[in-house]
Amino acid sequence: MRQIIIGNWKMNGTKALVEAMAREVSSRAASLACDLVLCPPATLIAPLVAALGDAPAKVGGQNCDARASGAHTGDIAAAMLREVGASHVILGHSERRTDHGESDALICAKVAAARAAGLTPIVCVGEDEAARQAGRAEAVVMGQLAASLPADFAAAPTGLVAYEPIWAIGSGRTPTADDIAAMHGAIRAALGKRFGAAGGAIAILYGGSVKPGNAATVLALAEVGGALVGGASLVPGDFLTIAAAAAPALGRAPGAS
Ligand code: PEP
Repeated sequence: MRQIIIGNWKMNGTKALVEAMAREVSSRAASLACDLVLCPPATLIAPLVAALGDAPAKVGGQNCDARASGAHTGDIAAAMLREVGASHVILGHSERRTDHGESDALICAKVAAARAAGLTPIVCVGEDEAARQAGRAEAVVMGQLAASLPADFAAAPTGLVAYEPIWAIGSGRTPTADDIAAMHGAIRAALGKRFGAAGGAIAILYGGSVKPGNAATVLALAEVGGALVGGASLVPGDFLTIAAAAAPALGRAPGAS
């Protein structure tokens, strides 16, 4: 399975960044052993799809509504993201859980809506610092997983899970390698228990202060199927350098079948 490197631009980005990122992807992507997904603000999805052209990167949204259409001012339906060229959507990011009070049940409904529209959901889970210090990190993440993933999550379009400890996001701090590996192992076991063999196809990404300097270490860890990158995805050179660190053991040579 190729590792997947996903950029989350959050509420950042301009058309100038779209052009710069497309240029960087076009010049470096052929040498990568991983897949790329870029998630700009919704207004930049169509321009980014156009700027990328045939370059090997997919584009995703950062959120979608659980409903298909209607009188919901300011919200965006999954099918709308799909129509302008998105293939993925981030759901349950901790900033949405905090800023918008999103519950696991709502996230689960959004995942179902995304899947119905043909989007691959990227579901974020992760503990806050208090839970980590209280030794409850795994319990929190297991609870989020159980309640945020619908029963058909492993069926096509197979979803992705991103483990993002809240205290590591944008802070420059990361868990130890042992802690990342332990959490990813626990998530893998939970997915296997719930979805059986099909659960093995669900990639588990790590997110939280992944930078060019630590990407190789993180991406070499057991059960790390890629990275969800925030701040560093706003610097095209840094984002592609992170992608270049994708673990060769999990990747495959460009062009290989
Ligand atoms: C994120 O918000 O998904 C994230 C991982 O951010 P950063 O890389 O900036 O910590």
